[in-house]
Amino acid sequence: MNPSPSAPDCDVAIVGAGPVGLLLANLLGPTGLKVLVLEKNLAPPSHSRAIGITPPSLEILGSIGMADAFVVRGVKIQNVHVHGVSAQTGVCSFRELPGAHPYILSLPQQQTLSLLEQHLRLSPNVALLRGREVAQVEPMGEQVMLGFTEPAPKMTARFVIACDGWRSGIRQQLQIPVRETRYGCHFVMGDFIDSSGMAEEAHLFFTPDGAVESFPLPGGIRRWIVQTPGPLLVIPRGYICRIVQQRAGIVLDAATQLNHSTFNPQRLDCASLYRGRVILCGDAAHAMSPIGGQGMNVGFADAEMLADLLPGMVRGTGDISEELERYEQDRMRAARVAANRAAQGMWLGTWTGISASWLRDVILGGVLLRGPFARLMASRFAMMDVPRGRAQ
Ligand SMILES: Cc1cc2nc3c(=O)[nH]c(=O)nc-3n(C[C@H](O)[C@H](O)[C@H](O)COP(=O)(O)OP(=O)(O)OC[C@H]3O[C@@H](n4cnc5c(N)ncnc54)[C@H](O)[C@@H]3O)c2cc1C
Repeated sequence: MNPSPSAPDCDVAIVGAGPVGLLLANLLGPTGLKVLVLEKNLAPPSHSRAIGITPPSLEILGSIGMADAFVVRGVKIQNVHVHGVSAQTGVCSFRELPGAHPYILSLPQQQTLSLLEQHLRLSPNVALLRGREVAQVEPMGEQVMLGFTEPAPKMTARFVIACDGWRSGIRQQLQIPVRETRYGCHFVMGDFIDSSGMAEEAHLFFTPDGAVESFPLPGGIRRWIVQTPGPLLVIPRGYICRIVQQRAGIVLDAATQLNHSTFNPQRLDCASLYRGRVILCGDAAHAMSPIGGQGMNVGFADAEMLADLLPGMVRGTGDISEELERYEQDRMRAARVAANRAAQGMWLGTWTGISASWLRDVILGGVLLRGPFARLMASRFAMMDVPRGRAQ
C-alpha cells in the first residue's frame, strides 16, 4: 500500500462490514470510485439482530437491482395485530401503503449481510478486506491515513466512512461527544420453529405484566421477544416459553427454541457526524431502541445520501464542507425523528400494571388504531415519513 499523500490507496475506505457499510459499498459500486471495506472479523456474525426492512429501504435496494433478491427470501408482514388486556385492540395494516412494497419485509440480519456481501463481487472497483481492524485514523491534508491493530501496512483514502457500529472506535478517536440515554427497559428474545398458526402476521401483546412481541421469519421460524422486569444475566431454560404462556396464553415448545439473547435498549446522539474527511454513518452516527425496528433502516438512508454525495466530493465537483454540513443536518434530523418514535412506541408498550394497561388499550384501540389514525400509524411504523438520505 502506498502511504504517499499524492496517490491514495483508495477513494473511499469504509470501516465495518455491517449492513450499513456493505450497503454503502454496493451503492458506490456503479460510481466507479475505488472503494475498500475494512472489517475486523474474519467471518460475518451468525446471530441475527435486525429483521424488519421497511419499504424505503427496499426502494434503496431496488436502485441497485437488489430488492427482488431480498423479497424472495423474506416474509412480507402486512398486518401487525395488537392485543390488550382482554382482547385484540386493533390492527396496524401496511396493505394500503403507497409504492411497490406495501409491507415490512422480515429477513434475519445475517441473510441481509450475506446478500450484500455476495453482490459486492459484481463491482470490480470495490473490495472487502476481512481481518483488518482499524486502530488509527489520521488526517493528512486531502487524505486520511489508516493504521491497523494487525501488522499490516498503513493505507490512505480520500475519505473514510466509519460504519463501525454504536461503540465506534473511530468516533471515540475523533473525540466526537455523544449523549447516551438508557431507557431502563429490558428484553429477552428467541427464535423458535413456528407452530403458532400465526402465519405471516406479527402480533404484539401489551399486558399488565409486560410486553410480548412475535414476528414471522423465513423458513417456518418465529421470533418471540419478551419484556423482563430487570436485566437478565442468565436466561433460565424455558424462560421465554413460560412468559409467553403467562402473558399471551400461547404454548411454545422449548425443544424447538433455536437461540436466545438479551437486549437493553439505549439511545445515542452524536454532537457531530464528521471531522475533516472522516464521516460517521449507521449506528456509529446514531443508535436507538430496537423496539420499533428502525436503526438499520435509518443507516441505509445515511448510506444512500453518502453514495450520492461522495462521487462529487472525491472528484472535486462539489463543495465538500457544504455537502458535509448538509449530510450532518439531514441525517441528525432523520435519526432524531426515528429515535423519538422508537422511544415513544417503547414507552407506551412497556407500561405495566392493570390501570396503565387499560389506559393503553383506550389510547390504542380507541384512537391510534382507528380510521385515519390507523393509516398514519402504519405509515409511521413503516418509516414512510422519516427523512430520506437522498441528496436533493
Ligand atoms: C435485538 C435487536 C433487534 C434489531 N432489530 C432491528 C430491526 O428489525 N430493524 C432495524 O432497522 N434495526 C434493527 N436493529 C438495529 C440494527 O441491528 C443496527 O442498527 C445495525 O446492525 C447497524 O448496522 P451498522 O452496519 O451501522 O453497524 P454494525 O451492524 O454494528 O456493524 C459494524 C461492523 O463494524 C465492524 N467493526 C467495528 N470496529 C471496527 C474496526 N475498528 N475496524 C474494522 N471493523 C470494525 C464490526 O465487526 C461490524 O461488522 C436491531 C438491533 C438489535 C440489538
